[in-house]
Amino acid sequence: MTFANGSTIVTDILVGADGAWSKVRPLLSDATPTYAGRSMVETYLYESDTRHPATLALVGGGSMTAYDETTRIGLGVQRERADTLHSYAMFDQPLDWFDGIDFKDGPAAARTVAAMFKGWAPELVALVADSDIPPIFRPLYGLPIGHRWEHVPGVTLIGDAAHLAPPDGEGANWALFDAGQLGNAIAEQPKDIDAAIRAYEAALFPRNIDTATAAGAYYPDFKPLNGSVQ
Ligand SMILES: Cc1cc2nc3c(=O)[nH]c(=O)nc-3n(C[C@H](O)[C@H](O)[C@H](O)COP(=O)(O)OP(=O)(O)OC[C@H]3O[C@@H](n4cnc5c(N)ncnc54)[C@H](O)[C@@H]3O)c2cc1C
Repeated sequence: MTFANGSTIVTDILVGADGAWSKVRPLLSDATPTYAGRSMVETYLYESDTRHPATLALVGGGSMTAYDETTRIGLGVQRERADTLHSYAMFDQPLDWFDGIDFKDGPAAARTVAAMFKGWAPELVALVADSDIPPIFRPLYGLPIGHRWEHVPGVTLIGDAAHLAPPDGEGANWALFDAGQLGNAIAEQPKDIDAAIRAYEAALFPRNIDTATAAGAYYPDFKPLNGSVQ
């Protein structure tokens, strides 16, 4: 491995836990993420208890989604620590459609995105229009459903590096689960790491089908078949 500062190491085990655009994945597979047909624009409202009580009342104590089937736009909101509201505006549009939004100019981007919710309840539009951060563009990608690879001694993947799927609220959980499963496998066979990795991967591959299929169900335009499905 070569690090950004130029230093290098040789390692017996390399676990790619490096997310969607994993640098380790190409050691195992040619699969690359494809666009899922949906992008999100992330915003935050802080101190909503005092500054946005009407919006907070609509969102409630957990999470809330509002979706318009006709225009295929929506707002997903999570109430986080204290009275922070964390939102994703959702758009089923091709990537170049978003070129029309200047995300380098935060206030302008907030105005442009908020205008797409014309006619929606003002308490909901406020999630975007009054954002306390410049809106962040989040295009969604996925790996082929059932992504797998021929075993390579000493190398494996966990989390999004192994099974990136457009978000369905489970991705972080699966990444942690993978880490635990790999740890367990190594603890069971500490003297034969390669057998442990094989055992981990034997359970991972069918799980990759289930997790990506479940996520894909939320994304009607997600056709993640690029020849790597087995
Ligand atoms: C818009 C959006 C909303 C989501 N919402 C949810 C949700 O509500 N609930 C949920 O469970 N999941 C959600 N997810 C999915 C979740 O974020 C991922 O599934 C999860 O973060 C995967 O964890 P990971 O550790 O595999 O990868 P990551 O969280 O991507 O972590 C990989 C890490 O590796 C680092 N890295 C990458 N390359 C290198 C390199 N070359 N050198 C050093 N470091 C490197 C990155 O900086 C990063 O810190 C969402 C995803 C998106 C895009």
